[in-house]
Amino acid sequence: MTLMAEPALGRFGDFGGRYVPESLVPACAELAQAFRAAWADKNFRDELDELLAVYAGRPTPLTPARNLSAALGITLWLKREDLAHTGSHKINNVLGQALLARRMGRTRLIAETGAGQHGVATATAAALLGLRATIYMGERDIERQHLNVQRMDMLGAEVIPVGTGSRTLKDATNEAMRAWVADVDGAHFLLGSVGGPHPYPWMVRELQRVIGTEARRQAPGLPDVVVACVGGGSNAAGTFTGFVDTPARLVGVEAAGGAAMTNGATGVVHGARSMVLQDDEGQVSEAESIAAGLDYPGIGPEHAHLGAIGRADYRTVTDDEVVAAVRRLARTEGIICALESAHAVAWVLRAAGTADLPAGSTVLLTLSGRGDKDMGAL
Ligand SMILES: *Cc1c(COP(=O)(O)O)cnc(C)c1O
Repeated sequence: MTLMAEPALGRFGDFGGRYVPESLVPACAELAQAFRAAWADKNFRDELDELLAVYAGRPTPLTPARNLSAALGITLWLKREDLAHTGSHKINNVLGQALLARRMGRTRLIAETGAGQHGVATATAAALLGLRATIYMGERDIERQHLNVQRMDMLGAEVIPVGTGSRTLKDATNEAMRAWVADVDGAHFLLGSVGGPHPYPWMVRELQRVIGTEARRQAPGLPDVVVACVGGGSNAAGTFTGFVDTPARLVGVEAAGGAAMTNGATGVVHGARSMVLQDDEGQVSEAESIAAGLDYPGIGPEHAHLGAIGRADYRTVTDDEVVAAVRRLARTEGIICALESAHAVAWVLRAAGTADLPAGSTVLLTLSGRGDKDMGAL
């Protein structure tokens, strides 16, 4: 299987596509064309690679989790996106899209954010590249992720509270897309994950590919299992691309309250056909997770496809397991990870030594972010 190419019409098997209001079709087409050209342009790639190295702190290390490995009877390596600038993998995607926006002559970035990590990364890139940033964030997330709201403010971004619906990521995404419709020529909509209309799922996966490429090079051998948490699915997609052409098993871990792969059905959300949590009438349901970054009823279409063809497995963990996982990793390895990332850790803790993850397995786990933002929630 190749994940190198741009998917025709943005389709991953039965999923993906571009389901947007007519007014956004030309903007999506222009964006796809611009990214296609930039991604094939050595100067663009060199500039991005340079920023990732000297600004974002790449490559991030691959850390052997020796204590936890010994306790669990497996060999566990952690890909340390928590050590990237601004504290998560979001910066990889944001720097790429912000450079692209500048190349397209845009002066403003519009973004949605859940836990605030994507908003902080976007505000950061805007400050660096001299762009304005407008960040949409649900009121409920503003309450529970206050530190990140302060960071965005410090960076000079405008944070717009969203009070509709569940007042979380789904609603913030709706508002951000609306704001883009109102300013398609001046603003770039900087989507934070592998969802949305074509070209976003492809573009964001390409920009996160660096995680998997580095991890593959850094790992002392090919892991048996590659695992990452899944909200929209960008850190998992970036990780999986490094291993999809190997025999390694791919596992994505969702929040039990936002498990689009496990409990969802085919539907359209935010411009893409994918797996979506919905009620009997097909209305998109609210997700509910302790991790604001996973509080999302959909999943990127490529994950829906990888699940449908059996190339990747999706599992769920509960909020209680996640909180226990944050503590266990902190006390055994001295690493305080984000609640989102702890979903992947929680699955490893539960599965190690069972048929799902037999003793002796080697496991590569992407730790998507650091946990400072969550201290108030624990
Ligand atoms: C945003 C976020 C996630 C969820 O997003 P994905 O697109 O699924 O990667 C996971 N972990 C952290 C730390 C985040 O900030």
